[in-house]
Amino acid sequence: MLTAYKGNIIEAKSPTELGLYPNQYLILEDGILIDILPELPANMQEAEVTDFGDALILQSFCDMHLHAPQYEMTGTGMDLPLLQWLNAYAFPTEARYKDPSYARKKYHQLAKELIANGTTRVSMFSTLHTPATLVLMEELEQAGVTGLVGKVNMDSNAPDYLRETTQESIQETLRWLEGCQQFSRVKPVLTPRFAPSCSPELLTFLGKVKAERGLPVQSHLSENVGEIAFVKEIFPDCGEYWQVYDKYGLFDSHTLMAHCVHSTQTEQNAMLKSGVRPVHCASSNNSLCSGISPVGHMIRQGIGVCMGTDVAGGTTLSMLKTIANSISASKDRYIMTGDESQVLSIEEAYYAATSAGQTFLGEGEGFVRGKALHAIVLDDTHLPLLPGITLRDRLLRGAFRLDDRNITAVISNGIRRK
Ligand SMILES: [Zn+2]
Repeated sequence: MLTAYKGNIIEAKSPTELGLYPNQYLILEDGILIDILPELPANMQEAEVTDFGDALILQSFCDMHLHAPQYEMTGTGMDLPLLQWLNAYAFPTEARYKDPSYARKKYHQLAKELIANGTTRVSMFSTLHTPATLVLMEELEQAGVTGLVGKVNMDSNAPDYLRETTQESIQETLRWLEGCQQFSRVKPVLTPRFAPSCSPELLTFLGKVKAERGLPVQSHLSENVGEIAFVKEIFPDCGEYWQVYDKYGLFDSHTLMAHCVHSTQTEQNAMLKSGVRPVHCASSNNSLCSGISPVGHMIRQGIGVCMGTDVAGGTTLSMLKTIANSISASKDRYIMTGDESQVLSIEEAYYAATSAGQTFLGEGEGFVRGKALHAIVLDDTHLPLLPGITLRDRLLRGAFRLDDRNITAVISNGIRRK
């Protein structure tokens, strides 16, 4: 069936270029995007057209780093530093997901909230529990959220109530991967929580599974200085943090590394060379006092930086707010270093929040012709009319001023979900 959506269309073609299509049509056939055109083609005069008037039509968001079980505690404990926060809030919360029926309720709500916020693609951490992880994948798939979910591996340096033995972790990972076969739009991603939470034996196993099955990997890298010092202490044979993942075959173009706040130039070079994708989490970097990432510097070297909310180190599920937070944080970095080139443009931030994640997930950049549509409608028409304001500036203003209440439509994988 031929359909069309009409509005002011904005796509992230590259980190430096927006595609702007004022008052044009997204032309679809059975949910697949055929083209963006200024007029309806002759064969479409009878097609179903949804006209969003003067609102903006954007790519939906790719939240490439968040912790699903922590969604329920978003915003709590935000006056504590990292270690106290983990022990008082994050770990006890994650332990509750031993119960799959508890997980069902929370994950159902999370999936709905993601769609409401215009996030249709994710890369997400679950907990170490296999049943709850499968529940999460099921809830996401039913709600129309696509992407990657990982059962977390942790057999070291975690509280007793949230730690697997090495053998348990290996067996449960295999059992979980078996269970993943029932899903078509939510796929598994291997998830060593971070290097210190996995023994060398477990990392060896994960590297082997990755190589054998061609699976992607997600973890944390160089988030804060204490963590980096700890990694040096327990992996003394690895000169830098990234070398731990590299040593075990977990560092290539199918790898997402959250944060990378304190990545040295050598670490950045290694990411560039291997195609590893850092995930910038501005809100969390601030909340947990991790630092201010040199994200602009990384993007301009050609590193494929993605963006994540990092709920619940991050305080919002909104990728619009995350774009705004990223731009604000980059200005803090400028203030701190005196280097004006640190400041992110809206082109770079919108690209990191959409197209960068898309390319990691195997889609192209922008609105991908020939693929199922992922889009949102952002209605800013109630804001004061600013004479001569461009579509680019409306996108930027929207990130700073609007939220899920202004997202009036969400299309995921060709199907309208909001
Ligand atoms: Zn995280």
